[in-house]
Formats: sequence, structure tokens, C-alpha cells
Amino acid sequence: MSLLRTRAAVAPLRRQFDDALTALPSVDALVAVERPEEPMHCLRPAAIAEAAAGFVAGFPGEVLYAVKCNPEPTVLRAVWEGGVRHFDCASANEVALVRSMFPEAGIHFMHPIKARGAIRAAWGEHGVRDFVLDSAAELGKILAETGAGAAEGLGLFIRLAMPKGQAMLDLSGKFGAAPEEAAELLRAARPAAGRLGICFHVGSQMMDPLAWRNAMALAGEVIRAAGVPVEVIDVGGGFPVAYPGIEPPPLGAFFAEIEASFEALELPGVTLWAEPGRALVAGGGSVVLQVQARRGGELFVNDGVYGALSDAGVPGFTFPVRLIRPDAPASLAPEEGFVLWGPTCDSADRMKGPFWLPADTREGDWIEVGQLGAYGACLRTAFNGFDRARLVEVRDRPMLEAPADPEISLAA
Ligand SMILES: *Cc1c(COP(=O)(O)O)cnc(C)c1O
Repeated sequence: MSLLRTRAAVAPLRRQFDDALTALPSVDALVAVERPEEPMHCLRPAAIAEAAAGFVAGFPGEVLYAVKCNPEPTVLRAVWEGGVRHFDCASANEVALVRSMFPEAGIHFMHPIKARGAIRAAWGEHGVRDFVLDSAAELGKILAETGAGAAEGLGLFIRLAMPKGQAMLDLSGKFGAAPEEAAELLRAARPAAGRLGICFHVGSQMMDPLAWRNAMALAGEVIRAAGVPVEVIDVGGGFPVAYPGIEPPPLGAFFAEIEASFEALELPGVTLWAEPGRALVAGGGSVVLQVQARRGGELFVNDGVYGALSDAGVPGFTFPVRLIRPDAPASLAPEEGFVLWGPTCDSADRMKGPFWLPADTREGDWIEVGQLGAYGACLRTAFNGFDRARLVEVRDRPMLEAPADPEISLAA
């Protein structure tokens, strides 16, 4: 027996309100009743299902949800509800979670560097057939650990490196094979692949549809250079959402660019895939903070960069905020741009914002921070003992609505 024990550092978020409270329709009603002193994570499954349905309706191919973005079971169910039937997983735990919830789902292991045991479990226990790689070494690992090939339906996807782009969160530099190497890997993988694909990620919160046009052209060159047929081009994630002062083009503009650049490649028989994360779930999550102290233009709040607000730290995202003061009429004070400090003793636990709130915001007030359904709660740590949070489902609308998208019409 192993002497090593594994332990999760962060407890899963649990619903801590009874059903009567969970059924409360709005964040304001919950705050008024519960007066939460711990960060309160609010999920809006209806908004997530709606965003997922919009993406599925508009994207000209298969849609995989990138589970890392928010693996909360309520979120996975909402994405499923919206019509998503495929999941992009990156770890053995994500694979097992999705399989336990959706026996019928397509699960795709899209991390280019996997533990051998994770490959074995995914193939042998969870019915995963598709695996990403960006090196000959990883191809060897996948073939050895699955013991499979084309006849068993093995799917192999070559991750293509992207040049450094304009995304708010650049993902170039860590994964991906350079074009010549990618072409070689396509050739090397072809005999063992029942399904062969090429994939890329242009960077997260990518605002420019042309990034996909350029990536598609590069993928086309690599496929031509390889001289072997592929079945799938996977255009990755990175689709943007709105934040204060940031209004991306509607998703339809991205889909149109992807479709046009794909058609220009003239590759009949090839299917498009996408792996959106942020675009499906950002709007469906928010966090309610409480102000514990004020110092001039700085508010000390009960969650921060070691909690659900990681992206407000070094990445410098601003999020929509609004004041909740259950016992008083709405503040009429003009808005002021505040800096937030999280609860830990680390001076890096600082969110420069600015976060625009009424100038009379004070100790005891609550603040709802919106657009946190993506890369929020899942990045929490237990640092300094601030690991408690509560989870509720609400039925009010998200703080920022997605821009109306004339390109996408949803059947009622
Ligand atoms: C993180 C990730 C995604 C999702 O990216 P978003 O920017 O959230 O859409 C998709 N695919 C891969 C391989 C990823 O690592």
C-alpha cells in the first residue's frame, strides 16, 4: 500500500443553504436573508444553458466544453442542457467527473502532456478515444498506454503552436508543435489514428476574429505539407466575453471568419470542432463579497486573488460590480473607482481595478462581482485559511448581458 496520501487542498463548493433559501430568485433576496460573511458564489444555470445553446446553434461544427474553466456539476449540467454533448478534459479527475455525470458524453483528452496513468484510465475505464499530443514522445506514450491504434478507434490530435498573439491571456509558448514538426507528427500519427486532427488555441479572451483566420491558414499549410488526410480541425477556445469597457464583436463574427477561412482551405470531409470555455460560462457566475474595511479609495473585502478573483490580480481583469445594501435605499452617491484588497496577508492580494462603486461604499456593504463564471471559483486556494465559500443558484439575470447577435437565431 502506498504511504502517500492524496488530499485536495480546496474543498468542493457545497450548497450551504437549505432548499427554501436556494430557491430564492435573486442575489439581493439572498443577501437580505443570509447576510453572508463568506464569499457567496452565485450560479445562473439558465444563463449558462442559453449561452451554450447560442454557441451550439452558431458554430459550424462540433462544440466541446473546456471543463477546466468551471467544472462545477451545476455548470456541466447547464452546458449539457444547452445542447453540448462533448467535453474537453485535461486531467484524469476531469475525465472521471464528466463520465460519472454523462455516460453518453464524448470526452476528449486535450492536454498535450499527460500522466501515463491518466491515459490508461481515460482509455480503459472512461471510454476516451481522442488524445492530443505535440511531440513524438507523447505519441509514444499514448500508443504504449492505450495499446491501441486505428482499428480500435484511437483519435490523435496534433496541437499546433501559435505565434504570440493579442489575446488578454496569451497561451503561446507552453504547448504546440512548430509547423514543420506538426506536419511530421501528422505523418507519424496517421497510421495509428482512426481519426486524425489538428488543433490550436489562439489565446484566451481573444478579441480579434482574424486570429482564427490566420490560425486556420497555418493549419491548412501544415496539413498540405504533411500530405496525409485529416478528419478534424479543432479551432480551440479563446472566444471572448464582455467586461467593463471591453466589448468584443458578437460571436457570429468569429464563426463567420472561421467558416470562411475553413472553406478557403477546400478540405472536403473535414469536420470543425471548437473548445469554448469562457464564452459559455462567464456570464453565469458571480461572487458576492462583503466589505470588511475601507481606507480611502481602497476596500478590504473577503475574497481575492487566492480565491475566486485570481484574474483581477496580475492579469488585471476588471469585472462589473454593484453595491448591495439590503437595509437602506440605493446609494445616490456618484461612482468612484476603487482598488480592492483580498483577505490574505499577502500584499500581492490586490486587485487594482478600478471597480466602480458608489463613493459612500463602506464596511458591512456587499458587492456583487459579475462575469466570474469562468476561471473564478475553480482557481480558489486555501491560502491563509480563507477557503470557505458558499454556493447558491439564482434566477435573476447576469450583470452583463451578452451583446445581441444578429448572426445567431435561437429556436425558441
Ligand atoms: C483553456 C482551454 C480552452 C478554453 O479556453 P477559453 O479561452 O476559456 O475558451 C480550450 N482548449 C484548451 C486546450 C484549453 O487549454
